[in-house]
Amino acid sequence: DTAPLTRALLSVSDKTGLIEFATDLAARGVDLLSTGGTAKALRDAGLAVRDVSEVTGFPEMMDGRVKTLHPMIHGGLLALRDNDAHVAAMKEHGIEAIDLLVVNLYPFEATVAAGADYDTCIENIDIGGPAMIRAAAKNHGAVSVLTDPSQYAGLLEELDAHAVQRGGGTSFAFRQRMAQAAYARTAAYDAAVSSWMAGAAEIQTPPHRAFAGALAQEMRYGENPHQKAAFYRDGSSRPGVATAQQHQGKALSYNNINDTDAAFELVAEFAPEDGPAVAIIKHANPSGVARGATLVDAYRAAFDCDRTSAFGGIVALNQRLDATTAEEIVQIFTEVVIAPEADDEAKAIFAAKKNLRLLTTGGLPDPRAPMVAYKQVAGGLLVQDKDTGQVDADLLEVVTKRAPSAQELADLRFAWTVAKHTKSNAIIYAKGGATVGIGAGQMSRVDSSTIAALKAARMGTECGMAETPAKGSVVASDAFFPFADGLLAAAEAGATAVIQPGGSMRDADVIAAADEAGLAMVFTGMRHFRH
Ligand code: 5GP
Repeated sequence: DTAPLTRALLSVSDKTGLIEFATDLAARGVDLLSTGGTAKALRDAGLAVRDVSEVTGFPEMMDGRVKTLHPMIHGGLLALRDNDAHVAAMKEHGIEAIDLLVVNLYPFEATVAAGADYDTCIENIDIGGPAMIRAAAKNHGAVSVLTDPSQYAGLLEELDAHAVQRGGGTSFAFRQRMAQAAYARTAAYDAAVSSWMAGAAEIQTPPHRAFAGALAQEMRYGENPHQKAAFYRDGSSRPGVATAQQHQGKALSYNNINDTDAAFELVAEFAPEDGPAVAIIKHANPSGVARGATLVDAYRAAFDCDRTSAFGGIVALNQRLDATTAEEIVQIFTEVVIAPEADDEAKAIFAAKKNLRLLTTGGLPDPRAPMVAYKQVAGGLLVQDKDTGQVDADLLEVVTKRAPSAQELADLRFAWTVAKHTKSNAIIYAKGGATVGIGAGQMSRVDSSTIAALKAARMGTECGMAETPAKGSVVASDAFFPFADGLLAAAEAGATAVIQPGGSMRDADVIAAADEAGLAMVFTGMRHFRH
């Protein structure tokens, strides 16, 4: 059952170990046939090799889609050497037997994993490679097939052990083992294509380009009803909306997922061991964020910041949801509640609210863990590190004559964290561990300041307070105040302390204005734009 080895066809995408291996084959007198890129690599190494196109009489064509798909190749792989009719057919058509096939496939899996676009993934589905592999494996009675560089050494050992003819020979057992591995490879390859398509087929027709994740959910629509949409998981185990367990309610919408993510990433900034914290999100911006002695206190304070906007919001908790807090949350309509865990009693309270979705994540994400953030623009993709910037207390620079009090400092750091998760320009008023006025997403920082102060005044009215809670608050600005005006507006609204990056050309003016107004101001040296 020893088969001679006189002719080999090499066609490999992964050229690892190729030259050494082919050199060894050539030294044994084995004829080498090869496809374009492989042949070039061999020739560059000084080896004699014949092009497949010379054997087929056809050029490689259609971007390599058709290279080896030809009877001159497949006849040479499939012909039974001991069958007279097969031998006659070979002779009649000038087909030469191929005894060894060395193929590894276009890197489809790696292409998908790299996040390539749809067309690139499609072009990386190898057709001729698997066809040859399956042909050679079927004919393992005579042909050896290698589908991975790790198998090269084994073949050379085999040839040494069976030195029958000029190239040496291979045993049936070896060829059968290689054939079995070959079918496992083509099966896995097709399975990879199929599972990618399962995720891609429905949604990833243009303009939806391939994303290397697994399809988690198709939505009825996207941000608006006329937009198609789907949700893909990237395989990360980070606690959050993608990995959460949903306990009740209908499927999350596109906007729900976006807002829930914003809410949970914000609340995760507050470590549970430092006490309860709650964030309420609307349109990806916080309507209120608060810490509290208890979770329900934190929820009430976050809700009070903007009772009007909180309606239909997303609520994120940094601790286990308890019954008292659940009871408070169901007082108004809320779209989604996300928490690390939930008590059974709390789940029972929510169960009565069919439209409320409860998600538990099992934990909080590490806000400092690096992540990559993507944003699509026409004709391209912007890629950056996620904003994991944190300003520890010892890095804050006091720039005014007056230093902030301990309470002011705590509120400044709290407001700064909220500003990081608020669309620019972001101005955050906070007092006693709770936001009292949030200005988000304005084109002018002064407008954001005005809106934040206005909202604080409205909170006073909504909550029946004697005066605006902005009185005695602190204020955070996600980027520097370019002029003193924004800062003075905050002072006028009642803020006593300011946190901002600093670094403006007019810092000296702004600091002087702060001193004049009796404000305490700290610089972070770090900006938190968010768009
Ligand atoms: P090369 O780098 O030698 O130009 O190409 C090697 C790759 O082409 C191998 O991964 C092999 O599986 C693949 N291949 C060989 N013949 C064909 C063919 O006829 N069609 C396609 N699509 N791929 C082929």
